[in-house]
Amino acid sequence: MKSAPPPQEARRTDGVWITLADGRRLIDGTASWWTACHGYNHPHIRTAVEAQLGAMPHIMLGGLVHASVLVLARRLAGVLPGDLDHVFFSESGSVSVEIAMKMALQFWINQGESARRRFVSFSNAYHGDTFAAMSVCDPEEGMHAMFRGVLPEQLVLDLPDSPNGARALELALARHAPELAALIVEPLVQAAGGMKFHSPDVLASVVELARRHGLLVIFDEIATGFGRTGTMFACEQAGIVPDIITLSKALTGGTLPLAATVARRHVFERFLSDDPDKELMHGPTFAGNPLGCAAANASLDLFAREPRLEQVAAIEARLADGLADLRGCRGVSDVRVKGAIGVVELDRQPDLDQLRMRFVEEGVWVRPFRNVVYLMPAFVIAEAELDELIRAVGTVVSEVG
Ligand code: PLP
Repeated sequence: MKSAPPPQEARRTDGVWITLADGRRLIDGTASWWTACHGYNHPHIRTAVEAQLGAMPHIMLGGLVHASVLVLARRLAGVLPGDLDHVFFSESGSVSVEIAMKMALQFWINQGESARRRFVSFSNAYHGDTFAAMSVCDPEEGMHAMFRGVLPEQLVLDLPDSPNGARALELALARHAPELAALIVEPLVQAAGGMKFHSPDVLASVVELARRHGLLVIFDEIATGFGRTGTMFACEQAGIVPDIITLSKALTGGTLPLAATVARRHVFERFLSDDPDKELMHGPTFAGNPLGCAAANASLDLFAREPRLEQVAAIEARLADGLADLRGCRGVSDVRVKGAIGVVELDRQPDLDQLRMRFVEEGVWVRPFRNVVYLMPAFVIAEAELDELIRAVGTVVSEVG
């Protein structure tokens, strides 16, 4: 608060454009932390939310239910792979991770295996800011290093990038298996922990090892879900159906806070009992908020009727082409693209406030973190708008070098 420059005041958003209070207009390269996949203020989502607002903005889900949440649960089960068909709604990504972790722990407790209480996660992981979610973030790079000793100690390992790495992972899993409940990973793209990519093969090998040692597999698709990596869900590219998946961000097309933790049938069945103690004890006040569900249903309509995945493929090609020249540029250590994600990694952390201001001067909203400058625009971005973002990244990055 003391040293940060005051934030820019946004007045209006439309498509990929943000209008500031002083009248300047910026092309958004981040889709508001990767949520606004259809662009801002989409008329179809707005109309659906307005209709829901007129009928019932909110109702508690304890003992009551409503059509929007029932439809959404069914539709999510329909678009998710395999038998991921039991949906638990909450209101933020971090909370959906808390619920996934609680679900995994209780999955074991409900069958008398209460020793399985730790989690495996990975370096560069970011799963949220609440306490259980913080414990599975990268302990150094995950923004929460000061809480070491307070957070539960999880087994944080490296994603294998060689046969030696795979052997190290296998040894660690074999040694700790009896105390491990689940493995949690952001499939294909570790986002807020550094925009690091791994291949579907690496993901498949990690999951195979986890399953060999009896662990549940949780995929955190809060950032990757809903088309961002080129398929509706990143897990599809590795042909894996995780036991539990978490979704948020683009779930409502970036209009309202909503999240979901979705479990496979065999997980659900461990909670289905005449014994009330077997029930999952979690009840967020705003679980399944009707406005959020109406927005999410409208967002799924758009995925069904608009060529979103083709748009992501076109963005991927243009980012790969447009950012390629930065490879080898002074100060740039890596350039990588996956789906609608373009990353320019710098060899050191620049002055982030200054960089952000330079981007505003260039007419774009790009928000670098650590040593990473990235673009994750709305899928509806026009070619000329994307070219403008790429141009601005090229200009500003070449000044840093
Ligand atoms: N998991 C992943 C992969 C994320 O990228 C994020 C947020 O960036 C979260 C969890 C936390 O979500 P939220 O900020 O909605 O709590």
